[in-house]
Amino acid sequence: TLKTRNAIVTGSTSGIGLAIARAFAEQGANVTINGFGDADAIETERSKIEKDFGVKSVYSPADLTKPDEIRALVNEAETAFGSVDILVNNAGIQHVDPIEKFPPELWDKIIALNLSAAFHAIAAVIPGMKARKWGRIISTASAHSKVASPFKSAYVSAKHGIDGLTKTAALELATFGVTVNCISPGYVWTPLVERQIPDTMKARNLTREQVIHDVLLAAQPTKEFVTVDQVAALAVFLCTDAASQITGANLSIDGGWTAE
Ligand code: NAD
Repeated sequence: TLKTRNAIVTGSTSGIGLAIARAFAEQGANVTINGFGDADAIETERSKIEKDFGVKSVYSPADLTKPDEIRALVNEAETAFGSVDILVNNAGIQHVDPIEKFPPELWDKIIALNLSAAFHAIAAVIPGMKARKWGRIISTASAHSKVASPFKSAYVSAKHGIDGLTKTAALELATFGVTVNCISPGYVWTPLVERQIPDTMKARNLTREQVIHDVLLAAQPTKEFVTVDQVAALAVFLCTDAASQITGANLSIDGGWTAE
């Protein structure tokens, strides 16, 4: 159970982040949710977390490409709940283009969101976690933190960076009761994956069906998508006492993708 724990999950208005936020709440944690989207839809999700699980939930619209807003998000969560015990760095975007055509401003944005945001958020939660001698820091990395695919240069670079940041933070926090890990899903059926299908169709000159079966699921030996609830269950496990000696790890949940 995560009763008495307060969590921040970045990028939790959709997909994997929302599933993690709900799974933490189900275990009794209060959660700060964050991300973009339709204001009414976000308020519906936030109040549903409170109603479904009897915890408190706060929404922050912080733009995680902006260091000041990240640090303000952590401050707000600490003020609202008294502590941040669990941080999940999950907000992320993708862009698919060959390197020579990859818009430099999208390179910068993806590095800012998928990598630097985790640095700023981790830096902001460390003092409180160290003082309380307990903390869980989890980042949603990707199979692309271990292997590459063509046309995803910024994403693959950022996710490899998350692997290095995770190991470094784990070493710095090892004696403070704070574990730092990343989870590396293969293809999870979420809006992020759905949105890259048209670009992959263009980049590789394929149909939608071909992209799903010959590009996406081709990478995954099980030939099945990972579910958001499976990723969330792993995040919950990492927050338990049973996981207190798991730190600095990059845990695959990818249907065998990175075994090949
Ligand atoms: P998603 O698009 O469903 O969710 C992304 C979330 O990030 C949304 O809540 C969105 O509003 C938020 N977000 C986007 N830009 C933001 C910003 N500037 N500031 C704050 N929030 C912002 O995608 P998802 O598939 O759930 O992806 C979540 C994470 O999982 C990402 O880091 C992604 O790289 C990673 N991941 C996804 C898959 C997959 O197959 N879906 C696989 C491996 C890793």
